[in-house]
Amino acid sequence: MAEQAKPRLEELVEKVVRGEVKLHELDRILGNANLAALVRRLALEKMTGTSLTAIGSTILDFVELVGRNIENPIGAVQIPVGVAGPLRVNGMYAKGDFYIPLATTEGALVASVNRGCKAVTEAGGARTAILYDGMARAPVLWTPSVEEAVRLVKWVEENMEKLREAAESTTRHGKLKRIRYWITGNLVWLRFEYETGDAMGMNMATIATDKALERLVKEYDGEVRVIALSGNMCVDKKPAVLNALLGRGKTVVAEALIPRHVVEKVLKTTPEAIHEVNTAKNLLGSARAGSVSFNAHYANIIAAIFIATGQDVAQVVESSMGYTWTEVRNGDLYISVTLPSLEVGTVGGGTRLPTQREALALMGVAGSGNPPGTNAKKFAEIVAAAVLAGELSLLAALAAGHLAKAHIRLGRGGVRHG
Ligand code: NAP
Repeated sequence: MAEQAKPRLEELVEKVVRGEVKLHELDRILGNANLAALVRRLALEKMTGTSLTAIGSTILDFVELVGRNIENPIGAVQIPVGVAGPLRVNGMYAKGDFYIPLATTEGALVASVNRGCKAVTEAGGARTAILYDGMARAPVLWTPSVEEAVRLVKWVEENMEKLREAAESTTRHGKLKRIRYWITGNLVWLRFEYETGDAMGMNMATIATDKALERLVKEYDGEVRVIALSGNMCVDKKPAVLNALLGRGKTVVAEALIPRHVVEKVLKTTPEAIHEVNTAKNLLGSARAGSVSFNAHYANIIAAIFIATGQDVAQVVESSMGYTWTEVRNGDLYISVTLPSLEVGTVGGGTRLPTQREALALMGVAGSGNPPGTNAKKFAEIVAAAVLAGELSLLAALAAGHLAKAHIRLGRGGVRHG
């Protein structure tokens, strides 16, 4: 920092402390987001009597991030990243051996996924498939009557090309695939579904839908009003059966046939024991609990990969819905995981941050694919295969009665309390 700038920064810190300058005004006043972050942090330290030096130690360049990824920055938190792998994937898009970056503070998680990767890889790898690709935004519209609501959805069907043209005028990669609708009383929900290339697509779908609605409101000859651009039938960041049925983001399956000797050697249990745990816990236990999804811990793997790779972490909610299925086949273990609503991207959002981009690059999926869309699909398949590995390892630990022991060893530094 230049010597002559120092008094001005100290003066600004004092003004923030006295309430004469607001935290969000600092970017404009200083014209530099990094200096603004420094002043904000120093002022907060004075106002609260706390030290924020650890939060302030970061490689992030806020000039790059303010206006895109963050407002009012003061620094960054650091989360350790471990790797699991190699994990062999024989997918439609992902082919090869991959190392999976997992950002977590939960001891035992990386070790557990790593063990699952070993079992899957020794079994020849996970087969994966993308069954659906579509990001949804569902506005809710007001009409005066059910009669008008029915007329409106008919108009939407007949004018699909006009709406598509309007929506796609806002983006190079977003493609409107379909519009589903639901009527409740006099209200109409239109669920716009887009392919969004390598982007997770939530901004893209929102901006495109807004444009399509603008055209609808202008050209529809009846009475209609947009109540909200998001009417909660999208469904973003809420657990919902709708997403589990229709899919949102990518619907992905990963499966593997694990030979009995691999289950016994790597996972220290038997196919029968894993199948019994899956049936009693993931299927019947989840049913009894009224759960939306039937799995052991997809959220652990999804959250750790999402944090490491700059995904929208709040979307762990629907991205970690899913179903684990097992069968004992001729003494071997068949296992599959189905993730109906995995929302991932390799461009846009937090994927452009330096550490997150490196984590994507580690798997060979940073940035745009060639052709566009293939990187995000490859990434989705790797994530599903990692979920398979994590699920397999936890089910095995439960079957062998090892779960608590592993957490004492790896989550508490080997210390058992009580
Ligand atoms: P985005 O960064 O807003 O959009 C992706 C951008 O990348 C577009 O400008 C797109 O251009 C460009 N692009 C370049 N190469 C591409 C490729 N190969 N494939 C796709 N796009 C490519 O990201 P987003 O995925 O749409 O939205 C993600 C963000 O939305 C996250 O930050 C998330 O937190 C946030 N979010 C928003 C809402 C909301 O309601 N708005 C809700 C939840 C989350 P073109 O558009 O010209 O193709």
